[in-house]
Amino acid sequence: MVKIKKIKILRNFDSRGQEVVKIGICDQNDHWFFSCPGSGKSKGKKEVISKDFQEIDFDLISKLEGKAFSSLNDLENELFALDGSPDKSKIGGNIFLALSLSFARAFAWSEGLELWEVLKHEYKLDFPQKLPLIFSNVINGGAHVENNLDIQEYMVVLKYKGPETVRELVNFYRSLGDFLREKYSIRILPIGDESGYALDFENNLLPLVYMKNVKDKFSYDFEFALDCAANYFYHRDGHYFFETQKLNSLELTQVYLSYKEKIPELNFIEDPFQEEDFEGFRELKVTQKFKIIGDDLTVTNPQITKDILEKNLIDGIIIKANQVGSLRETFETIKLAKEKNLLVIISHRSGETEDPFLIHIAKACEADALKIGVPIKERVSKFNELVRIYGES
Ligand code: PEP
Ligand code: MG
Repeated sequence: MVKIKKIKILRNFDSRGQEVVKIGICDQNDHWFFSCPGSGKSKGKKEVISKDFQEIDFDLISKLEGKAFSSLNDLENELFALDGSPDKSKIGGNIFLALSLSFARAFAWSEGLELWEVLKHEYKLDFPQKLPLIFSNVINGGAHVENNLDIQEYMVVLKYKGPETVRELVNFYRSLGDFLREKYSIRILPIGDESGYALDFENNLLPLVYMKNVKDKFSYDFEFALDCAANYFYHRDGHYFFETQKLNSLELTQVYLSYKEKIPELNFIEDPFQEEDFEGFRELKVTQKFKIIGDDLTVTNPQITKDILEKNLIDGIIIKANQVGSLRETFETIKLAKEKNLLVIISHRSGETEDPFLIHIAKACEADALKIGVPIKERVSKFNELVRIYGES
């Protein structure tokens, strides 16, 4: 049982310098527990409403003060009742999540447990232990930077085996930087919202070619992944504007297949089409050339995910708790995906804070993968929590 004695609502800042909201909960023993999820920029249309500090209904949230809850489910039942909207627009999805996480942290403290252990117990998760794959975004484009790449993320994929894996990633990132500096004769490389390199390239294939050069030169055992975030280059007239061309989904499929021919290690492709282009997803899926991942397509929402799973459009799913706001719904979505043997990838946002809660979400459900950027600058807290939680093996 945790009694919420007091709630603090603070203005914080994410890695883009955007304001985000941090929530503190004070328990019956006067301990404070804080949570601060990051924020997205290339969002799915059906994500819950996120509230800025000045939009918050403080009276509504203060109704929790003085109340005691015996579980996370009890707390979220109260939050759902207080909110009463389909998109968490009264409380705000970000506030909903931060309240749930802070409560879960208070509960974990009272029981002498880790956050992930509370989540595992609360949502009855009993999956075999597994070391996750790491998806690390080394070249940034799309909505995350002002360069000319249509594709948002160029990632390397490798299995986490301990701190050595993090070291390997840093080494690859540095070697890729050296390669790009020499290639383009520039001393300082621009970087994007997720700290991947962010220069202009002659086309959207070239970053993959350069990644392959570095991978082959130093014999890294990596696979590659793209997050196309195709909502960004889709226009309402029904075409994709890719490089200088207007393409339909069949033509865009051919582009992706041509990439696969040239770069065989490209095995994963996230949001290759805009979130309502089911036909595009279907066309690419039948080729069986990639593991297709949904993000803006599924927005961690159990109802939407159920519908997409029935349509058989994807092989994997991105999980971002703040797309849906509730921890219960986040784990419902994870369970639906696991039942269908989908690859479950727990992801950061492009605007991040120092809060590493997503590592606990991953450990609680023994996720297949983590998408957490490069292990430098603002992204490093996730990697350090990964090492702590998953051990040094
Ligand atoms: C993404 O699209 O996978 C992503 C991390 O972007 P954002 O956080 O901007 O939605
Ligand atoms: Mg994405």
